[in-house]
Amino acid sequence: LLVDGGLPTKRVASVEKSVAPSAPPMPAMLSPVPTVVPELPFNKLVHSTDDPDSVWVVVNKARPLKPGDFAPDDLTSLGDIPGGQGHEMRAEAAAALLALVEHAERDGVAVKVSSAYRPSGQQANLYRASLDTQGRAITDTLIARPSHSEHQTGLAVDVFDTDRCRLKRCFEESDAYAWLVENAAVHGYIVRYRDGHQDVTGFRFEPWHLRFVGPELAQEMAQADAATLEEFFGLPSAPTYLD
Ligand SMILES: [Zn+2]
Repeated sequence: LLVDGGLPTKRVASVEKSVAPSAPPMPAMLSPVPTVVPELPFNKLVHSTDDPDSVWVVVNKARPLKPGDFAPDDLTSLGDIPGGQGHEMRAEAAAALLALVEHAERDGVAVKVSSAYRPSGQQANLYRASLDTQGRAITDTLIARPSHSEHQTGLAVDVFDTDRCRLKRCFEESDAYAWLVENAAVHGYIVRYRDGHQDVTGFRFEPWHLRFVGPELAQEMAQADAATLEEFFGLPSAPTYLD
């Protein structure tokens, strides 16, 4: 109807009637008007990768959170999720995680929370404790320094299924991990530290560490086969700290 120059439906119907009186007027809703939706390229500028409040913020060894003591203002309890008692994430990430966990449960897969939001001070304690026992070289591949941790954004969560492989490499072989690789993106989550990308992300493979980026970006990255946020956004690799 729009092609006719926006004639009101009634008028068009009456014209049709006068041409072919025997044919009943076709309701406008049923007219076979083909709708062509052009495929727009993914807009990588919708959200900031610098702003700590942005769902797309990229934090790594070369990109500390600014300010360094950043704390999100919409932290929400993960109490409704197995293991989530006493843990928090930003509201949108928490809601998406609940949907993810319920989806996994429907598929017979357990996904539990090991750790989620960590304030800067808590990250500093973790880092110091590891320094004392493992030294700086090993610690820097395992635990982010304060202001450099995704856990400080309120958008990251470590998950597990059974205690046996909790925060261990063998989580990779679990049904839960296989399910997450298939389904996390629909809920806006990515596996942030994938295998073989330590030279880009600065971290060893962490099959348990999920990062919320929103379903649009997570699915776009899956479709584009982009393994890391750094590569997807064309940001420099961050294998080590700058100092
Ligand atoms: Zn983590």
